[in-house]
Amino acid sequence: MATILITGGAGYVGSHCALALHAAGHRVVVYDNLSNGHRAFAKFGPLIEADLRDQAALTQALRDHQVDVVLHCAALIEVGESVINPAAFYSVNVAGSVALLAAMAAAGVGRIAFSSTCATFGAPAYLPLDETHPQAPLNPYGWTKLMVERMLRDHADAHGLKATALRYFNAAGAAFEDGLGERHQPETHAIPLALFALMGRRQGFKIFGDDYNTRDGTCVRDYIHVRDLADAHVRAIERMLADTSTAGQFEDFNLGAGEGVTVKELIAAIERVSGQSLNAAIAPRRPGDAPALIANAAKAATLLGWRAARDLDAIISSAWRWHTEIEPHPFG
Ligand code: UDP
Repeated sequence: MATILITGGAGYVGSHCALALHAAGHRVVVYDNLSNGHRAFAKFGPLIEADLRDQAALTQALRDHQVDVVLHCAALIEVGESVINPAAFYSVNVAGSVALLAAMAAAGVGRIAFSSTCATFGAPAYLPLDETHPQAPLNPYGWTKLMVERMLRDHADAHGLKATALRYFNAAGAAFEDGLGERHQPETHAIPLALFALMGRRQGFKIFGDDYNTRDGTCVRDYIHVRDLADAHVRAIERMLADTSTAGQFEDFNLGAGEGVTVKELIAAIERVSGQSLNAAIAPRRPGDAPALIANAAKAATLLGWRAARDLDAIISSAWRWHTEIEPHPFG
């Protein structure tokens, strides 16, 4: 049993990781300023309400709770916003991570797992994307995540830090049975937006482009259940805990189901699972969208014993039940 401090532990992926780590027998401490997180999601251990850039508060939290591993999920995540307001992204995502690494050094915490993203790869040169694919982000969000990966590599080389970057493809779905799900403000993701249209919370659903060079002209994505992602975090953290050498180590894992789904196929699956028909219309391409993103998760299978266990229907039905049955703020 270890103590894990989760920055951004009241957010979407962070809270599902807290659930999984708690279920695996670990102690969880949530560190979140609730700017995008939700107090109700921070229910698996104490909540420290503070900013990621507050190095003194971080150091104090790491010392007070005798933390063994940091899981670093806190970040600004909305790609479009990062293009409009890059300074905020560099401040929170990069300067915040500098503060976190300094606090870890001060408190003697030598292990960190980091929420990274397939957006660090940019436009794919080949598919599926493995960990050796060149990284050339297309937007400030992706650059901030790649910079933190670089920082982790350098710290591992310099003074024995053990670091694992977990690159998510399209995180989706909900642990609705445990009162957790997706609640972003504003919501920009395809699955919740399509479900909101079915629920009457939106006019309809816009398909961003049908003139891509894909099997039906719409973008291909690799949707991965957030519970499966959380399971990968538990495995990655336990792998770092099992490594008791003093040597630094940086590892990276691409986390996806390894299956490409077009937007039109996604809509068909949503209609099948919900039993309703979706009012969807073709709209212009969304700037910055890659035509196709699919993970090669073989490295996670080999070294973590991990693979996606839940299929697209399970992802959609869990999100559907979260939004229709559980989510306490229907218009939030
Ligand atoms: N998408 C869409 N309409 C929407 C939102 C998303 O057609 O209202 C498409 C988007 O172009 C992408 C896919 O759905 O190809 C997944 O988008 P999302 O924003 O969920 O994740 P991303 O792949 O951008 O991280």
